[in-house]
Amino acid sequence: MFSFAFGAVEIKDSGLIQLGDYKKINCFSAKTKIFVDKKEHSKYKNELNKEEYQIYLIADRILRANNLQHKNWRIGFRMDKDVVNAVSINNNLILINSSLYDCINQNDDALAFVIAHELAHFVLAHQKTTIENSYRIKRVEDEIKKIENNQSLKNKNINQYTALSRNLKNLLNNIFISQRNLELLADSQALEFLVRAGYSFDSALEVFDYIEEDYNFYENKNFYPLIYERKDNLQKEYEILNIDILTLEGKTNLSKSDVLSIRRSMDKETLVINKPKNYKEYSFSPKTKAQKLSQKAYYYYKKKELDKAVEYFMLAQKENPNDYIVPLYLSYCFEYLYSQNGNKKDLKNAKKYAKKAHQLSSKNEYALKQYKVFYKR
Ligand SMILES: [Zn+2]
Repeated sequence: MFSFAFGAVEIKDSGLIQLGDYKKINCFSAKTKIFVDKKEHSKYKNELNKEEYQIYLIADRILRANNLQHKNWRIGFRMDKDVVNAVSINNNLILINSSLYDCINQNDDALAFVIAHELAHFVLAHQKTTIENSYRIKRVEDEIKKIENNQSLKNKNINQYTALSRNLKNLLNNIFISQRNLELLADSQALEFLVRAGYSFDSALEVFDYIEEDYNFYENKNFYPLIYERKDNLQKEYEILNIDILTLEGKTNLSKSDVLSIRRSMDKETLVINKPKNYKEYSFSPKTKAQKLSQKAYYYYKKKELDKAVEYFMLAQKENPNDYIVPLYLSYCFEYLYSQNGNKKDLKNAKKYAKKAHQLSSKNEYALKQYKVFYKR
């Protein structure tokens, strides 16, 4: 049978999961860098008004912490006392309504969330889908009108009329769902940006207190998820993000990058945050839920918090059952647990997941190696 050394076994690691791109930062040099950045920022203090300067500092931090300096961003305010909202327009323009700013101007975390949400729409390329959706919505609404005015069809064949009308309404509904889903995706991505930049999630949630109170917003309710759905989605996202690692990544990116320079737009109405001249390493790709879960699991695995590691690897597996890496690590987890406590159930699981990993990727050397631990030829 199998013999395992109790207690002394180290956790295995085939290096197939990466935690993130960060380095341990020397505390002294980090403080010096913050000091240098502050001095650099203050050069713009006299050129900008108070509100603009606040927005600039927040945007600079989010952009640099997340490596998003690949284009000139435009950011500014739009005078609107009624609609508590912000928008992303064209390819790089963020406008914060004065009403929204006035509600949350004392809360940098909430402002950061608003900016991060609009940035997320850009980096996730939502503009294109939104434009397509609005055309589709218009076409389907026209069709619905046509059907509703078609008295002769209604008189001749009521079943066909009802079916046609129902199909169109379902179609319209699905487009609205896809549109609302973009908002949830932007929120999730914004949360990641927010955490990397070192802002507080709990504090940022204040923004929803004002949106919730605003009835104008509900006139567009087909386009926006309900507030409780957004909060719920964010809470779930927060649970699967790896806060420690994201924070480290953000600090690393901030320490490696220079303060972004700024100038007033030609029409004087917005600020232009300039792309650094030598910047070329933009490589953003959004992480899937499965990737986030397996990274979080791996983080606990490295810390030898095996219960949590198993919990998150299981969730990752549910999300993407075809990935061999997750069962491979589950096998490592249970093998280690077995070495610690001799529990037969852990051994059984270690075998089961080794087999599964090998089935999913029969050629992978690590999966094969782990398989051979339990199944001799
Ligand atoms: Zn949005």
